Amino acid sequence: MSNFTNSPLISLTNLSPFNNSPRNQPIRKITIHHFAGNATIEAVSNFLRQPGRNASYNYGIGSDGRVVLIVNERDRCWGSSSGDNDHQAVVIGVANNTGGPTWGISDAAFETLLNLVRCICTRNNIRQITYDGTRSGTLTRHNFFAATLCPGPTLQARFPEIAETMNRLLGANTTTPRPSVYTFSIGEVVQFTGGGVFTSSTAAAPAHSRGPSRCRVTSIATGRRNPLHLVSEDGGRVHGWVMAADVRPIPPALPPAPVRTPEEIMIDNAIAAGLITDRAHWLGVVTGNVKPVAANVRRMMQNALDAIDAAASR
Ligand SMILES: [Zn+2]
Repeated sequence: MSNFTNSPLISLTNLSPFNNSPRNQPIRKITIHHFAGNATIEAVSNFLRQPGRNASYNYGIGSDGRVVLIVNERDRCWGSSSGDNDHQAVVIGVANNTGGPTWGISDAAFETLLNLVRCICTRNNIRQITYDGTRSGTLTRHNFFAATLCPGPTLQARFPEIAETMNRLLGANTTTPRPSVYTFSIGEVVQFTGGGVFTSSTAAAPAHSRGPSRCRVTSIATGRRNPLHLVSEDGGRVHGWVMAADVRPIPPALPPAPVRTPEEIMIDNAIAAGLITDRAHWLGVVTGNVKPVAANVRRMMQNALDAIDAAASR
C-alpha cells in the first residue's frame, strides 16, 4: 500500500478515536458531507471525539475555510455508513453557513474544498474524478449509502462542478459520456438535482448553472455527453441539455407518517437527543405497561422522563 500522508492545508489536528487503523484499501475515492450546521472546526472535531459519537471524518472544513484533521488519511474514518466506501475514501465534512432546507456553504469553504480535493488526488495518485451519480464513481455522497439528505442540496448540486474542476486541474480526459443507472423517457417528469445546463447534447461547457428543479424530459440523445433535454415545470429556469448524473426519477409519494401519541413524541425526542435508547421499554414505563415496577421507582423514572422532555423541547 502506498505511503500515506496528510494534507499540509490543515490548520488544526484534533484526532477522533472513531477509526480503523490502518485502512484496508488504497485511497481511490473522495466522499463529501455537510455538517448540517455551522460548527467551527474546533467544535466539530471536539464533537467527533466524544464517547459514543461513533462517527468521524478524515477532514472537516469550517465556513471560514480552515481545515481540521480528524482521522489520519492512513486510517479509515467512520463517515459514510459504508465500511467499503470509507476504507477507499478520504472523507470530508463541510460546514453550512445557512440552515435547512438549502444548507448553504460559504465561498471560503468551497474554495478550500476544491484545494483539499486536489491535494488529496495529487498525493494519492488519483488521476481522474468520476461522478456518475452512483456509488461506483470516485466522488461519492453520504446519501448513496444511507437515507440522509447529506450532503444537502447546495453542496450536492455542485458535485458535477467539483468533478469537472478537478479533472481540468488534473488534466484528465473526460470526453467519455457518463452512464446513468436510470433510464428516462420523453414526456417523463424528473428531478434535476442541480448543475450545468448545456446548449447542446455534446457541449463541454455549460451555458448556465441551475439549482434543483422539477423538469419534463423533452428530448433524449442516447450516448451523448449531455443526453437529456429538460424544461422546468416549477419555474426553475432549466431549459437545455443536462448530464444524466444530474437527473433522478421522482419517487412515488410516501404514505403519511403514523400519528404518534404525546408519550411517543416525548420518547422519540429523548432518543433523538441521545438521552435514552430503548423505545419500547421507556414507552412501557410512561404508559404504565411495564410491570412490576415499584411505585417509587415508577415515579423516579417519570421525573427523569419529564426532565428529558423539558430538555428535548427547549
Ligand atoms: Zn453525511
